[in-house]
Amino acid sequence: MKGFSGGIHPPCYKDSSLINPIKQVKPPSSVTIPFVQHIGAPAKPLIKIGDSVKVGTKIGEASGFISSPVHASISGTVKKIDFFPHPVLGRAQAAYIESDGRDERDVSIKSRANPEALLPAEIIDMVKEAGVVGLGGAAFPTHVKLSPPPSKKIDTIIINGAECEPYLTCDHMLMLYNPVDIIKGTLLIMKAVGAQTCFIGIEKNKMDAYELFLSKIRGMNIGNIHPVLLDVKYPQGAEKQLIKSIVGREVPLRGLPMDVGVIVQNVGTTVAVYEAVYFNKPLFERIVTVSGRFIKSSQNVRVRVGMSFRDVIQEIGGLLDSPLRVIMGGPLMGIAQERLEIPIVKATSGILIMSPAECRFPRTRPCIRCGRCVDVCPMGLVPNIITLAGESERYTQADEWGVHDCIECGACAYVCPAKRPMVQSVKMIKNELLRQEKLQQKEKNLT
Ligand code: SF4
Ligand code: SF4
Repeated sequence: MKGFSGGIHPPCYKDSSLINPIKQVKPPSSVTIPFVQHIGAPAKPLIKIGDSVKVGTKIGEASGFISSPVHASISGTVKKIDFFPHPVLGRAQAAYIESDGRDERDVSIKSRANPEALLPAEIIDMVKEAGVVGLGGAAFPTHVKLSPPPSKKIDTIIINGAECEPYLTCDHMLMLYNPVDIIKGTLLIMKAVGAQTCFIGIEKNKMDAYELFLSKIRGMNIGNIHPVLLDVKYPQGAEKQLIKSIVGREVPLRGLPMDVGVIVQNVGTTVAVYEAVYFNKPLFERIVTVSGRFIKSSQNVRVRVGMSFRDVIQEIGGLLDSPLRVIMGGPLMGIAQERLEIPIVKATSGILIMSPAECRFPRTRPCIRCGRCVDVCPMGLVPNIITLAGESERYTQADEWGVHDCIECGACAYVCPAKRPMVQSVKMIKNELLRQEKLQQKEKNLT
């Protein structure tokens, strides 16, 4: 293992959600299912008000190559198609479905005969039809990731079981509960892209999962899937850092893992691939870590997409007090939410309810040029220069200093003694550069 430079070691806060087994939450009385739960174009609605749906019925069709279908997660009646609160976009078009209490599955969900004999193109098509997207948080459509251009030869798959964000344990629990599903999903992914080797990257604080994989892989007599232990360091689970740590390859700036012959898939995505191919099961549920000091009982839950955060929290005993801050995902890369009436989407890895002690809003002070942000940046950037350039509207300079290579991990903000809002600055700069680029394109088209 080569490791990567930079990174931080925040406290893990993982133990409390590892005590209990994964809880299967009962299907809710209603769900709100957004038509966009992925990177790319929103799905096009296939339903109308009054339609009856079953669990797994396709309700939205992919509307382009980088897009993904969405499916009903309960059986019942479509009551509304409108704009509803969305955890990433603020508001987005969604279907509101009321349950009929029967939780009937679509007849198309059934075991597939001889899945091992499928051709690569058939596997990719099934993954697309099932609406599988990256479950680590990015929500990039998986069928697109499994379809690199012919010029990019993929020799290695990395299954991401690092789970380096504090509090989150959904991937750890999945590795303990479903190791064989992960291995079978991995074999499908390897076949789909023609890769000969796979590494399963696991941080050293999950030795139980590492040993379990070793014994399962040995038992299944598989020679080309290798569990690998990784240092406990944030952001170990970021794609480029994982590739550097495991195979020692450096993804070029502005490049993609496929540029160095690698595809990275999260363990949850790998199980979704397995279920899509073996059972024709669409992605309508996932495992979510519900944690934080204001949660009565931290736990991992298997929940339906579209269920509200409030309903999920009620199912595991509720809150200790009114929440000060709700976060979807982990504390470092997660997204703050204004309310609990937000639906679970495919990218919801965690619901964190933070206490006042955990959510101080320190006063921001000017940069003292201490260089700590430079020391920890895993991308080798100079975060203070980039953000200072952005704050004084020198966007081209921020671009030249590599703002587009920032993975928004928040390590720089974590160590900054002046408590500067580094990630917010980076996002603002990227948005501004995108706006300027679109404007230039528009002007060019007019002339
Ligand atoms: S860590 Fe903060 S104060 Fe120090 S150089 Fe970076 S931005 Fe400035
Ligand atoms: S948020 Fe961006 S600039 Fe800051 S440490 Fe992470 S990659 Fe570097």
